[in-house]
Amino acid sequence: MAKPEWMASDDSQFVAQRELGLYHAYFDAFDSVVARLLARDGASGVADAMAALADVTRASVVSLYLNVPDGSVARMVAAWRDPATRLAAVTPAPLKLFEYANYPMLSDTLAVGMVLNKSLLELPLAEQMLLAQIGARRILCIPLLNRGELFGFLSFLDDDERRERSSTELKLLSMLGNHVAQALIRLHVEDDLLANQQRLRALVGATEDMVFELSPEGVVRQVWSGHPALPSAEVITGRPIALVLPPEIVQVLAPAIPEALAAKHSVTVQCALPQRGVWLHLRLQPVTVGEPRVVVLVHDVTELAQDAARKKTMLDTLNLLEEAIVDMTPAGELIEATPAWAGLRGLEARNLPQDMGKALSTWVHPEDQPSMADVLGRLLASNEASSLRVRLMQEKGEFLWVEARLIALRGPDGSCHGVRGVMRDVTVAHLNEQHITQLAHYDNLTKLPNRLLLDQALAHAVDRARRDNTKVALGFIDLDHFKQINDAFGHKMGDELLVNLAARLKTVLRDNDLLARWGGDEFVVLLPDLTDTARLSDIAERLRQAARQGVVLDGMEAKPTISVGFAVFPDNAESGEELLTAADHTMYHAKNAGRNNACFYSDILHLKALGREHVAIQSRLSDAIRLGGLQVYYQPIVRAKGGDVYAIEALARWQDDKSGWISPELFIPMAEKVGLIQELSEVVTHQAFCKLREWRDAGLAQKLMLNVSRSQLFAPRFVSNLVDRLGEFKLRPSDVIIEITESVALTDYSRQLKHLKLLGAAGFALAIDDFGTGYSSLSQLHEMPAQLLKVDVSFTQRLHTDEGRRVMQAIVQLSHGLDLDIVVEGVENLETARFLQGLGVQYLQGFHFSEPVPAGVAELWMRLGLSGKI
Ligand code: C2E
Ligand code: CA
Ligand code: CA
Repeated sequence: MAKPEWMASDDSQFVAQRELGLYHAYFDAFDSVVARLLARDGASGVADAMAALADVTRASVVSLYLNVPDGSVARMVAAWRDPATRLAAVTPAPLKLFEYANYPMLSDTLAVGMVLNKSLLELPLAEQMLLAQIGARRILCIPLLNRGELFGFLSFLDDDERRERSSTELKLLSMLGNHVAQALIRLHVEDDLLANQQRLRALVGATEDMVFELSPEGVVRQVWSGHPALPSAEVITGRPIALVLPPEIVQVLAPAIPEALAAKHSVTVQCALPQRGVWLHLRLQPVTVGEPRVVVLVHDVTELAQDAARKKTMLDTLNLLEEAIVDMTPAGELIEATPAWAGLRGLEARNLPQDMGKALSTWVHPEDQPSMADVLGRLLASNEASSLRVRLMQEKGEFLWVEARLIALRGPDGSCHGVRGVMRDVTVAHLNEQHITQLAHYDNLTKLPNRLLLDQALAHAVDRARRDNTKVALGFIDLDHFKQINDAFGHKMGDELLVNLAARLKTVLRDNDLLARWGGDEFVVLLPDLTDTARLSDIAERLRQAARQGVVLDGMEAKPTISVGFAVFPDNAESGEELLTAADHTMYHAKNAGRNNACFYSDILHLKALGREHVAIQSRLSDAIRLGGLQVYYQPIVRAKGGDVYAIEALARWQDDKSGWISPELFIPMAEKVGLIQELSEVVTHQAFCKLREWRDAGLAQKLMLNVSRSQLFAPRFVSNLVDRLGEFKLRPSDVIIEITESVALTDYSRQLKHLKLLGAAGFALAIDDFGTGYSSLSQLHEMPAQLLKVDVSFTQRLHTDEGRRVMQAIVQLSHGLDLDIVVEGVENLETARFLQGLGVQYLQGFHFSEPVPAGVAELWMRLGLSGKI
């Protein structure tokens, strides 16, 4: 049925009105949709925009699809659904993630920028099936284009296929699509921009540099990051640099802005802010795109500048140093050296370069080359500095002692790229040190090693012995009567004797044995690396013989004797220290056994306890002397023919509360050593003279035999004191026979002769005690003003051998020849007494007749005689 005319006119009027309404509605929508999209409220903004679109188009579902980056798929990013629609509420996956390839009609239409406006039945099967899933009957898709490129689309779905839109509305929809596309593009660009800004800020923040943007006029446009020494972004943004930045910066920055803009590449300037102690490096980067600007990057170079300044000061200092600093290749070739190197080499400073490129070893003394190479080798292998001393040849061929401290220069990977050496002239110090070492380790007089060096050698020897299972022997050597030699001949002669003795003793030793001077007249011999000790007694004997070879002092021949004490590690000691102590003890016993003796620790083991008590006893000795702890015992000397008592020997006795009887062999030398001998002998003589007085009064005529030690003999006024003391008891020197041991008679012969003659002149008779132990020469004996020889116990004890008997016979004949009477000590049995009697010995003394006994018992023998014993 055709429409009536008016209706047509009505219709056209209606259409016009409707179209006007559409225009209004769409124009409103342009604004509201775009405003909502750009509101940046995230998802809700887009959703609101969809609702606005639905409102104007009256579609059942409006969705916005945006392409993923490669453009193969469009993702539904927002949708609005009319609550009253018949379309399904749940959106199936293919609609959410729209694959263009699966829907050729739709994608082809959109790809060319055209609107797709179809009912379900007009569509190809794939699209039909897609829409049928939710019950859509019509679809309208508007492409979203950016410079002709599809980046998404708007889709409008209707549940009624009759919901057709006029061409005007389609045009308006197309326009609306354009607006939406523009809005989305802008959003996208802004997002990118924002991301870029954030990225830039992150980058700028990471460098700790200040970054800001300037206009060509020098106004701060934007500040990306700040610097602690400069005003903050809030202060400077939007303001000219001349007003907000420190003048030092403005001064360099302002002229650089036009320069950078004109040059179209970056310009760098520097400045310092002295008050803030900051050094800055400013880089101006012109921005050539769009509005001209300059990006300024402010880099803080304070530390670098300080480093550089420090380096310069350091270099200046190094150049002033006396030490030469030398940089070398790992192979030791010189690369660089401070001026002091020229000094070491005796070069003129300007000639220093001539040494560069040459190896350090060029000038190192050939003998020092191996240690130098060794140190360089070690240096490359380790991180530690090494020091060494080498002789360095100067230009003129002379050598300096140079101390070089070397360190390897390493790269970050640890590899060695060079060697740095600090070198100084230590020639004077070196020579001094050598001298000091000599002084410290060697005795100045004998040039023998001293205690210090001995200690070291001993420690090494003991270590080696432990390791190799060998032995170390140590001998303490003490020169007998050295004090008297010094007293008699003076220190110079004493020194000469020591030097002489040292040289002699050395001849006995092997190369790796060591003779050291322990001090005074004491020496120590160290025999390391011994496999057995059988040879030891031979060595000891040879040392003794070497000492006795005799030395002419002051025109007189002296035959020094030594006492030697040997101990062996590990047999007698567990350490070097113990070994020294053991040898010292042994030597002490050798001395006490009559001097001129060699003893071994193993022989005196039974006396060890004595050694320990020694110190304690010593401290009690003076009390004993002063408080009357000493007594005198008497031992008769019997006439061999007849057995009556010819004389009586006074022997000191000490009974200590703690230790019991202590032998005079111990306390007499002790008293001498600690200076108590004078007091001791006064006690003895006083007691003995008292007794003698009583005996004289009782009509007994026997002589008193008195032991006198060497220090007594040499004491001033010894003879006159003794005479005075006798006088107090109304006794005469002829009542007394003085016993002097042979060893005293030997050394200081000339001086002691004087004393002995004094004694003789005063009227005392003299006896040489312990005869046979001191190796007196016959000529000396001949000159001595003695009347009696007391033959030492050791000879008596050898009478059971043929040889012993022959020796005794020779002594008896000798004494007859010298017109001396003989007393034989140590007669312990009748057989001995008879034998000696047969030899023509005049007097006998010993336990066979009587031990030393208290005065009362002695008096009995003096009265009765001992004829029954012979
Ligand atoms: P000496 O002068 O050789 O004295 C003799 C020593 O031989 C004494 O030892 C005596 O006890 C010991 N004797 C005596 N008969 C025998 C014997 O038949 N067999 C053995 N084996 N020994 C015998 P003593 O009393 O121990 O004296 C030791 C040394 O002490 C003395 O040796 C003497 O040098 C010294 N002495 C003792 N009293 C004094 C003193 O008042 N003044 C000084 N300066 N020295 C003294
Ligand atoms: Ca005696
Ligand atoms: Ca004796």
